Amino acid sequence: AGESTALVYTTHGEPSQVIKLGTLQLPSLGDKSALVKMLAAPINPSDINMIQGTYAILPDLPAVGGNEGVGQVIEVGSKVKTVKVGDWVIPRDAGLGTWQTLVVLSADDLVTLPSDIPLLSAATLGVNPCTALRMLSDFEELKPGDTVIQNAANSGVGQAVIQIAAAKGVHTINVVRDRPDLSQLTDRLKVMGATHVIKEETLRRPEMKELFKFYPRPKLALNGVGGKSATELLRHLQSGGTMVTYGGMAKQPITVPVSALIFKDVKVRGFWVTQWKRNHGMLDELCTLIRAGKLSPPACTEVSIKDFHKALDNAMKPYISTKQVLVM
Ligand code: NDP
Repeated sequence: AGESTALVYTTHGEPSQVIKLGTLQLPSLGDKSALVKMLAAPINPSDINMIQGTYAILPDLPAVGGNEGVGQVIEVGSKVKTVKVGDWVIPRDAGLGTWQTLVVLSADDLVTLPSDIPLLSAATLGVNPCTALRMLSDFEELKPGDTVIQNAANSGVGQAVIQIAAAKGVHTINVVRDRPDLSQLTDRLKVMGATHVIKEETLRRPEMKELFKFYPRPKLALNGVGGKSATELLRHLQSGGTMVTYGGMAKQPITVPVSALIFKDVKVRGFWVTQWKRNHGMLDELCTLIRAGKLSPPACTEVSIKDFHKALDNAMKPYISTKQVLVM
């Protein structure tokens, strides 16, 4: 049935050491499966954690890396009705192994995407924009003029939050780590629709009070970092507001100030997109924003699958501000 070139790991460990480019024999095409040519697949932090063996779900080894990406259907089994040859598809769930050139998957594991959206949007739609959309929709009822505060604002999730919030008329206060090119990054996020971009240090400064003379205090805080950064986000929430934690890039637990619980009754929640099967309702809403020019993919660097070492190294560097996307 053919061969696939794939990024495979046989043990958990540091990605640069355990990931190898190999050749896999493809299984024969069952009547309910589809042969998919992968086109582009990002390297996300959860992919790295999965390879390291620290993520909440781990595949049986050996495994192909990658959980997200877009492919094109090139052959379908006789009983397949949900996808057809030529369709763009993304995995419905995590754990399918997207860092490979060809893959045979059950048709039930695939969701079709319209192919009139940019390739990089399609390749990065299923995880970060879905996470941003759910977090902005399911925890607090946000109205135009409301404020959301978030850290890791330049992450893939953060960039989607900025754009989806802006499309809803919701202000965003975006916290990023200081860096030499901060003003360039700030400009880039503002072009996307960020209301304010501030450094982590500014969160603790009195000028935050000035900001809240112009904007209502946030109803919602989105935390992708943890540690001190999360505690500082919490302090700025309005009474009864919610902080949703979706990532822990700093690998530090969160301290919740007693006063925030007693005097403000803030809610501390969590979110995991993997518990959601990707469905057309959610994806259609995002594709509508993409077509309207309101949701671009995150800043991306496309790297050939053969140069995976470079892509993995960059994906793990701080301050890189661009998503590494493997192209097959
Ligand atoms: P990206 O790879 O696009 O961006 C990584 C971000 O993390 C950058 O903003 C980077 O900032 C920041 N960062 C890295 N190290 C640290 C650190 N030590 N302290 C503070 N910030 C740091 O990430 P994604 O948007 O793809 O994912 C972001 C987080 O969200 C990850 O933890 C990921 O696992 C999680 N996530 C969770 C989901 C869920 O369902 N719960 C779904 C999607 C993502 P800098 O530029 O300063 O280096």
